[in-house]
Amino acid sequence: MAVDGSNMAHAVIETAVKERTRLQTGRSRATALVVLVLLAGLGLFLALVVGKSDPTSAPTCNGTTMTRNDECRIWSNHGGGGTYGYQEMIDRRESGKGVWQVVGFVGTGLSVVLMGVAVTKLNPERPWGKPVTAVCPRCYQPNLREKLTVHTISRGRTNYRYSGIVTLCTPVCGFSAVRQR
Ligand SMILES: [Zn+2]
Repeated sequence: MAVDGSNMAHAVIETAVKERTRLQTGRSRATALVVLVLLAGLGLFLALVVGKSDPTSAPTCNGTTMTRNDECRIWSNHGGGGTYGYQEMIDRRESGKGVWQVVGFVGTGLSVVLMGVAVTKLNPERPWGKPVTAVCPRCYQPNLREKLTVHTISRGRTNYRYSGIVTLCTPVCGFSAVRQR
């Protein structure tokens, strides 16, 4: 695809400036934490509600609650079909729940670990990018920092990615540049 190089360079720089703003206002961290809290909650729900063991309540057979003398006939093309008694249907129900407990607790644990990562990595006190040794060509101060930045444009089903190493000075100075990796 033919692209206007200077427009793309500008778009990548704008993306970098927006990322820096999101980082420094703490908005990136707030968003990440909200998502992770929701995921942790979902994990607990799966582990404690969906996966809760319940070995005494009556099982159901095709949506109907069974009594002790009922039998349940299960048709299956994938194996596991057959006729099952009351206790066998309870066992079938309960054996599936262990998976949800594992999935739920692992999901919750991962979310908690990632919360710790988000708190430190997306700390607003942490400066954007890596320091550059050269002084800024505009304000002559050693305030330059740089970071690999990707700008994505969606056209229909295709995503176009433009990336470059963006160098930014302080917002007050406003100097910016982008170069290829
Ligand atoms: Zn500067």
